Amino acid sequence: METGSLEDRVALVTGAGRGIGRAIARRLAREGAFVLVNYNGSRERAMEAVEEIRREGGQAEAIGCDVSDYEACRSMAEEIIGKYGHIDILVNNAGITRDNLILRMTEEEYDQVLDTNLKGAFHTIRHFSRYFLKQKGGKIINISSVSGIMGNGGQANYAASKAGMIGLTKSVARELASRGICVNAVAPGFIETEMTEAMPGKARESLQEKIPMGRSGRAEDVAGLVAFLAGDAADYITGQVIAVDGGMCM
Ligand code: NAD
Repeated sequence: METGSLEDRVALVTGAGRGIGRAIARRLAREGAFVLVNYNGSRERAMEAVEEIRREGGQAEAIGCDVSDYEACRSMAEEIIGKYGHIDILVNNAGITRDNLILRMTEEEYDQVLDTNLKGAFHTIRHFSRYFLKQKGGKIINISSVSGIMGNGGQANYAASKAGMIGLTKSVARELASRGICVNAVAPGFIETEMTEAMPGKARESLQEKIPMGRSGRAEDVAGLVAFLAGDAADYITGQVIAVDGGMCM
């Protein structure tokens, strides 16, 4: 389904240089949105994503910002509103893992994951909400994880951040609902990206065995749901957590 239904919408996708974020950016652009591809590390990867979108006939620009930095997110929001006049879709996708068993997990590993995954989403929502409120509309989509619903050994920091995103989603959804702003969370299961490539083979196999559909997912599977939630067809859906996981968590 590519309907061009997001024409004239401005979308920001955080951490969109690769993986799920890039697939979301491409999909939103194919639906007609002007997409801001946020990156922190590699501008080159973000520009690759932008070029890919342009080759497909879409519109995109790259925008650098470390989402774990409160003031940097404020500047990013001001820059976007200054240049494009409005923001219609915010996808909080940027995320990291620092896996370790709880007995070995360092304070730094815990803090880094919470600062990027959970505080990062808070920062962008905090700074963009005033514009969504002025516009009396918009879509905020937070990329959580099935780890935040089910927990996952070796990922106490990551699961805590992703569970936190669910609480953040529901609370902000309640605050903004009366102004026509929808806030939802998407919880991917096991999706093939560079993040999951880094997992040891045994851990990958044991995870795949837990998927009723018997296979891992693709970034495009997540992007399809995000595009739906970003569009008008989802105007009456808010405060929800929807898994894209081949039935892993039901
Ligand atoms: P990935 O590592 O390929 O992509 C993550 C992106 O976030 C990278 O481009 C990275 O540069 C960016 N990023 C990291 N820290 C940032 C920061 N401080 N500011 C801005 N950007 C930053 O991983 P992915 O698999 O594409 O994951 C995307 C999202 O989906 C993450 O939030 C992840 O937790 C979530 N998720 C992934 C899976 C999976 O199986 N791959 C499952 C559930 C949830």
